[in-house]
Amino acid sequence: MMIDIVSPGTYTYGSLVLGGVLRDRGHDIKITSKLQSRGGTVLLSLFSTLQLLDPEIRQFVAARQNVYVGGPVGLCPEMVLGELDARAVVTGEGEDIIADLVESGPHGLPGVAFRQKGRIEKSPPRPIKSLDHVLPFIPDDLCRQNIRGANVYIETHRGCLGSCSFCQVPRFFGRSIRSRSIENIVAEVREMKRRGISRVAISGGTGSLFGYRNKVNREAFVQMLRSLSLILGKRNLSVPDMRVDLVDETVLQAVRDYTIGWVFFGLESGSDAMLKAMRKGVTVEDNRKAIELARSLGVKVGGSFIVGYPGESREDFEETMRFAEEAMLDDIFVSIAEPIPGTPLASQILQMPSEELPLYQEHRGEYKALKLTEAEARCFELMLHGDSCKPVPRATSNEQYDAYLCEAKGQGRDIKRVMTLLQKYREFLL
Ligand code: SF4
Repeated sequence: MMIDIVSPGTYTYGSLVLGGVLRDRGHDIKITSKLQSRGGTVLLSLFSTLQLLDPEIRQFVAARQNVYVGGPVGLCPEMVLGELDARAVVTGEGEDIIADLVESGPHGLPGVAFRQKGRIEKSPPRPIKSLDHVLPFIPDDLCRQNIRGANVYIETHRGCLGSCSFCQVPRFFGRSIRSRSIENIVAEVREMKRRGISRVAISGGTGSLFGYRNKVNREAFVQMLRSLSLILGKRNLSVPDMRVDLVDETVLQAVRDYTIGWVFFGLESGSDAMLKAMRKGVTVEDNRKAIELARSLGVKVGGSFIVGYPGESREDFEETMRFAEEAMLDDIFVSIAEPIPGTPLASQILQMPSEELPLYQEHRGEYKALKLTEAEARCFELMLHGDSCKPVPRATSNEQYDAYLCEAKGQGRDIKRVMTLLQKYREFLL
């Protein structure tokens, strides 16, 4: 069967894995990051809610009969099927059902949703039995992809122990940890290297949960990094995302010795009240200690922050600014709180009057002339502040100033578009 896997803009890891499963089943597979197909069945891999509103993606789906959609958007299949004229949506992990789905259709399969006689039929997803999988399908141009410095993000495990209110990971993959075997990961990375992929990053919410069995399995984590580093070289391997309460000396030394030597902590806020509201499960003090530990071991520390969270006061935000100043992070990344479908944050925001959300409040402070909302202004201000709080502070150039402003405005605009979409499917998201 001729099957095109379309992963618009970026090759998602899931699209490569499903390509491998279908290739080994004997199908004629082509995978592309462009909106094009050869006329057969199409698997469309989406990674963001906004893609549902992309006119080109909508047109692409509308012009074809046999399009199946997958990705985290599957957490709200009513929204996907309401926006895209797709044959079915995969609502959970796709590896075990994808071949049956494309060969025989969605009827009777777990973890799919589809329209039938004007109604949406859906069945609960079933977690896959083993995460070890066949070699992924590797497109020739994957080696030219650049996602935050890596050609590709691979998965070593799924699930997260955390229950952060804004995050899809525990909702999509669950809160128990399932890991691949090191042999399976090594075989994949060897094949990637052979195909010209030089830089690999490890995704999966929190890297140090690899091999987790009732406690952090440091030996497994270290062995996995050491094995991959031997193949790729430490300059080409990164394991950026870490929870501050799941690192210790051994974990951080492995990051230093076998990867590019950076961690990216999800710090989110400098206010304990906000960390609690986000159900982060850690305190500002925990964040501080993890940063100090990493730095003392020679690991560079980046941190991500969320601003404009429901209930975030100006004082909370000032605490975040002070925290960033004290922490002197090597890099910071700022996001406006985004209601990702399927998360507690999305249902919370949908139940609040919009005037109570910083996303819709007019900013009347220092940046009033820039006509920003309060959430955009905080995003902009913290990005600017990040430059002056680095270990070696840098003056923000005019170009960088404009880029930060553009980024803050763009985030605000995009999240408002997502909010409008979510309002339309409110009944399925509460
Ligand atoms: S620790 Fe990270 S991956 Fe886990 S729930 Fe929180 S944000 Fe998501």
